[in-house]
Amino acid sequence: MELKNFESIAVRTQSERSQFNEHSAPIYATSSFTFDSAEHASALFNDEVDGNIYTRYSNPNNNEFVEKLCLLEGAETGIATASGMAAMFMSMAAFVKSGDHIVACRSVFGSTHQILTQLFPRWGVSHTYVDVDKPEDFEKAIQPNTKMIFVESPSNPALDLIDIKYLADLANKHDILLNVDNCFATPYIQNPIKLGAHIVTHSATKFMDGQGRVLGGAILTSKELFKDILFLARHTGPSLSPFHGWILSKSLETLSVRMERHCQNALELAKFLETRDEVEFVKYPFLPSHPQYELAKEQMRLGGAIVTFEVKGGIDAGRTFLNSLKMCTLTSNLGDTRTIATHSASTTHSKLSEAERLKVGISAGLVRISCGLEHIDDIKKDIEQALVASQKELV
Ligand SMILES: *Cc1c(COP(=O)(O)O)cnc(C)c1O
Repeated sequence: MELKNFESIAVRTQSERSQFNEHSAPIYATSSFTFDSAEHASALFNDEVDGNIYTRYSNPNNNEFVEKLCLLEGAETGIATASGMAAMFMSMAAFVKSGDHIVACRSVFGSTHQILTQLFPRWGVSHTYVDVDKPEDFEKAIQPNTKMIFVESPSNPALDLIDIKYLADLANKHDILLNVDNCFATPYIQNPIKLGAHIVTHSATKFMDGQGRVLGGAILTSKELFKDILFLARHTGPSLSPFHGWILSKSLETLSVRMERHCQNALELAKFLETRDEVEFVKYPFLPSHPQYELAKEQMRLGGAIVTFEVKGGIDAGRTFLNSLKMCTLTSNLGDTRTIATHSASTTHSKLSEAERLKVGISAGLVRISCGLEHIDDIKKDIEQALVASQKELV
């Protein structure tokens, strides 16, 4: 029976049952796979038959995870990686050579920024950043040697959106690739490939695992583009551990249920924050006050689990707010069952100058909340008392 609904695909896509008739997929903890004969080995190595050879190439647990993700994202094929950053790096490195150029949104994830600004220049690959609030600048940034546009939407932590359909058309017009890091939205909320993107990249560490346990990533694309990615990945070894592949595939079974509640909590928290005097502004894609509310409704199924807001009183009030939280955790992860608070200006983006921070939408008192799965009343209560505390030393 062909399954078309997200929930059923996520639950029912499973590696082939073994002779033991297990109901839940086992963990294939093996580095290599045996050959039936010398001829079989030769056929496998020459791509004449499908099958596993060595876990750096493929493994049933990782294959199950990837197959599921392909169905959920509408991709033809893909590969699982040991971390989100391995996916980001591979998905770009596979398509560039010395002299090439990448256009990216300025608000990319921190380590993606380091790849573009510190590592790629060593190998002669340059980039141009575009501010997400100036979409018309993407076309201006494209040069004859541009190979790819790389973006994140919603952006981190400012939650600005990029019109993926618009960028896909632009990429096609210039015969270059559009690569979207879909980590914040997850395939449940947004499907960039269905909107025209050529490559979708993920950090599975976040909502896919969803419980702060393992690192993982994935690259999903067309069969045609996959050849270059597979060649690079097979021979450089960013492979996902089968154990992590097993955890991540299991976790996808509950992604839809978790995302529904994450997003319900986040929307309720965002609405609550809008009523608070201690808060300068709140940003959440599904609040009508979001400048791109219409676009959010068009390209996202729900608003996501991340809410950002500005505490009145700048950097000191932001710090006091974090120090006053009693339940929410201070940690650098996101996409966990546990609600997590981050003050970007004093932590993740503290090495940037104030001007650079403002360019990516990080004002001094900006707090990012990754809304968890605790009861919303407890989340609100903790945040409310920390907000009150944040203003005490100001007056
Ligand atoms: C966390 C994250 C990454 C990196 O993923 P890791 O699994 O930590 O390597 C990349 N992009 C975004 C948007 C992220 O949030």
